[in-house]
Amino acid sequence: MSTQYENFETIAIRNREPKTANREHTTPIYLTSSFTFEDAEQARALFADEIPGNIYTRFSNPNNNELIQKLCLMEGTEDGIATASGMSAMFTSMAALLKSGDHILACRSVFGSTHQIITQILPKWGIEHSYFDISSPETWEGMIRKNTKMIFVETPSNPALDIIDIEALAKLCNKHNILLNVDNCFATPYLQNPVKLGAHIVTHSATKFIDGQGRVIAGAILASKEIIKDIRFFARHSGPALSPFSGWVLSKSLETLAVRMDRHCDNALALAEYLEKHPEIELVKYPHLPSHPDYAIAKKQMKKGGALVTFIVKGGVDRGRKFLNSVEMMSHTANLGDSRTIVTHPASTTHSKLSDAERAQVGIQAGLIRISCGLEHINDIIADVALALEKSKS
Ligand SMILES: *Cc1c(COP(=O)(O)O)cnc(C)c1O
Repeated sequence: MSTQYENFETIAIRNREPKTANREHTTPIYLTSSFTFEDAEQARALFADEIPGNIYTRFSNPNNNELIQKLCLMEGTEDGIATASGMSAMFTSMAALLKSGDHILACRSVFGSTHQIITQILPKWGIEHSYFDISSPETWEGMIRKNTKMIFVETPSNPALDIIDIEALAKLCNKHNILLNVDNCFATPYLQNPVKLGAHIVTHSATKFIDGQGRVIAGAILASKEIIKDIRFFARHSGPALSPFSGWVLSKSLETLAVRMDRHCDNALALAEYLEKHPEIELVKYPHLPSHPDYAIAKKQMKKGGALVTFIVKGGVDRGRKFLNSVEMMSHTANLGDSRTIVTHPASTTHSKLSDAERAQVGIQAGLIRISCGLEHINDIIADVALALEKSKS
């Protein structure tokens, strides 16, 4: 890539793979499984890693390279790889860097499938784990073991929207020589850059806001050249490669990430403020509401408060269920990060596999409702919430 721009919006739009002889204005889709060699010497040099270039799409592809270059510039990392899903990014970042006998420490509220990897899959290879509570940072250092190799966190957490001070945790990791891996899916590279705050690895489910329109499953791992070298070796041979078609969709999606996130966040803040004043609401959590317990940290490390709002309607689980059955416009699905506003009841869907005690530990009360604010007009989002609150009363 020729020019290096510094501003997020320009990085998202002006970085691209070199034009072909057709001088196309936008990057074409490179649906090719392999690439031809100029001659025997070039083939040798490519395989010896002496020169950059594409060999085979499981290793690299121009569409995925373009996506990764942009994400690296946005996150402030040297290198990265694109993966076929968010979960393949989480799994690859752990499996490539941990070995038998190592210990991974994670925040208790990780994404459901990440929890399954940590508790059911990594133990098959003798990798130990334990969890810490986001709400008690004073206990974290005491939970570090001699064999702790990685700390894995999500902030804001799902669905309680608790905040971890990334800078403080990174200092702790550096003191103990531990890799800090942050799943930055909820914040996106636009709102929060964990590596700039001292983390070592950023992982993404690009399925959510990076695509932002509910059409692609994808992920990414971003880190220093040294860390990505090990991850690339693991990925090249185990094969979680992203389809170039999805890479093309996502590179295009990044062009609008800043304007989309601004609107997502403005809508979410307006909804949170509306709910906070509503007499039928017991609790509202939104990172950039002054009532949030970690408001100061959220203000320090996040440009805006994100697209998610969680709240509890007065009247317990029954009222919560009635609320969900009363919405008209909002989509009732378990996903998030879409142009369409989505409403979810975590206790009966995304977090139904946890016991009541485990749910309580991660701040999921039975009546908790999560809204992923979309890009519809804010008046229509609030009107739908108001309607459901009214209809669920009786
Ligand atoms: C959705 C999600 C994932 C998993 O991503 P997929 O693309 O569905 O595989 C991981 N972490 C978080 C925080 C998520 O929201």
